[in-house]
Amino acid sequence: MVVKIDRNLCTGCGQCVDTCPVEALSLDSDNIAIADADLCVDCGQCVDVCPVEALSLD
Ligand code: SF4
Ligand code: SF4
Repeated sequence: MVVKIDRNLCTGCGQCVDTCPVEALSLDSDNIAIADADLCVDCGQCVDVCPVEALSLD
């Protein structure tokens, strides 16, 4: 499983990028968060830190 990102909600604030313990998140060329599925360990820390609830784990 990998964290899901709602591109319509993400403001590109970068807080999830700074929080992820395995550096699975980055900002793409549109300044929207993207996740590397090979790195994400489903810890949920980015979900908790996102101020606009753009991230989720099913
Ligand atoms: S914390 Fe939320 S709004 Fe900020 S870059 Fe990450 S997904 Fe986007
Ligand atoms: S769920 Fe955890 S490992 Fe996956 S992108 Fe978010 S902070 Fe990183």
